[in-house]
Amino acid sequence: MSTSPVEARNLTLLSVVVPCLDEEQVIREAHRRLVSALGATPGLDFEIIYVDDGSQDSTLDILRELQRTDQRVRVVSLSRNFGQFAALTAGMQHAAGDAVALIDADLQDPPEVILEMLELWKRGVDIVRGIRTNRPGESRFKIWSSRAFISVFNKLSEVKLPSGVGEFGVVDRAAVDAFLNMPESQRYLRGMVSWLGFRQETFPFEREARLAGKTKYSLRNLIKLAINSILSFSIAPLRMIIWVGFMLSVLAFLIIIYIIISLFTDASVSGWAMVAILALIIGSLQLICLGIIGEYLGRIYGEAKRRPLYLVGERLGFPERDGE
Ligand code: UDP
Ligand code: MG
Repeated sequence: MSTSPVEARNLTLLSVVVPCLDEEQVIREAHRRLVSALGATPGLDFEIIYVDDGSQDSTLDILRELQRTDQRVRVVSLSRNFGQFAALTAGMQHAAGDAVALIDADLQDPPEVILEMLELWKRGVDIVRGIRTNRPGESRFKIWSSRAFISVFNKLSEVKLPSGVGEFGVVDRAAVDAFLNMPESQRYLRGMVSWLGFRQETFPFEREARLAGKTKYSLRNLIKLAINSILSFSIAPLRMIIWVGFMLSVLAFLIIIYIIISLFTDASVSGWAMVAILALIIGSLQLICLGIIGEYLGRIYGEAKRRPLYLVGERLGFPERDGE
């Protein structure tokens, strides 16, 4: 497990995991910057694992070409698009290093920062998490909504996210193994990393604008991701249903008293409007509650199928391993 902070860790091999979806415009430059950043440290042994997440453009061809010219490049090509978190998981599963760095392909996370993060790892930090101090190239709305998301997430979930955290970081082998032992198929990586514990430290860095190409996260995808991650990390919406039920029963009790009183005071209890309103309120609230339960049920269904998290179409550049 984690070594004592006094005794510095020695790095035998660093694995860098880079998920790529349709990144033909940036991948060559990303590779060049990664290699020149990491190569600047004498004696640093590293491998770069590019995970092609079902790209439709020429990303995979470029990766094959990089692999032919550079022994340190490994390529895992997934059989289709499984999503960034599955791609990162695939990369970690193929990593042999005693420290694993996670970085985006679009050079928004500066590769040079990996070296600074490694220094923390050497001093015993198990998980170094990059914190964006700025968000160039992103709209005000995106920045505001991501802050709002983190505060809602942190209120509802027992697992906490540091604000500004992304996937960029360096993770110790022990924490990588622990992460890979988490079998869930709905993988909100940032939450899962927080859940892991170990010695975590944040590392502020300046994020750059995307080198070229465009973000894979449209507003629609972001909303989906936000809902999914909250539902996978919190059962607060289910608890909320109970409170809605309680509030409705208090309302029902008051109405019953009102009806009983009017039975004695007024012979003609005017009814139908009240009945219609009540039926509508109760009916719609019940449907909302059922919908919330349905969301969780759907998640259980998804997990119960126990499908693999991703399928590999092709592997390149991995040294032969026994039993494979
Ligand atoms: N990515 C991926 N699979 C996906 C979506 C994204 O592998 O389904 C990769 C993408 O190629 C990039 C990283 O994940 O290397 C982050 O994606 P992007 O830059 O689009 O996200 P943003 O920085 O806008 O949040
Ligand atoms: Mg990006």
